[in-house]
Amino acid sequence: MSLKTIKEKADRLKQNYRVILLGPGQALVIGDHDTYDVTRLSFRWSCNCPWGRHKGRWAECSHVVAVRQAQLDPRSQAPVAKLAGLLQELKRLKESA
Ligand SMILES: [Zn+2]
Repeated sequence: MSLKTIKEKADRLKQNYRVILLGPGQALVIGDHDTYDVTRLSFRWSCNCPWGRHKGRWAECSHVVAVRQAQLDPRSQAPVAKLAGLLQELKRLKESA
């Protein structure tokens, strides 16, 4: 996955209001196939997706990029009222996968 693709994917995640900031160093990102935990470890962010686990040391995954963007732009965060709907959508995606 190129850096450009990651940026595009992060933009798409942000536009779909799928970034949920749980705290200053913790966020939940609802991706296309799963929900990912993004946490800050001192100076860098870590994500539990396959890319983040194996390649996160060299390049941030789209989930981390989306969380960083959401922190800079509070309007891009998922409103809490939308959370139930997002989780239901995720359940549907998992069932259809
Ligand atoms: Zn990730």
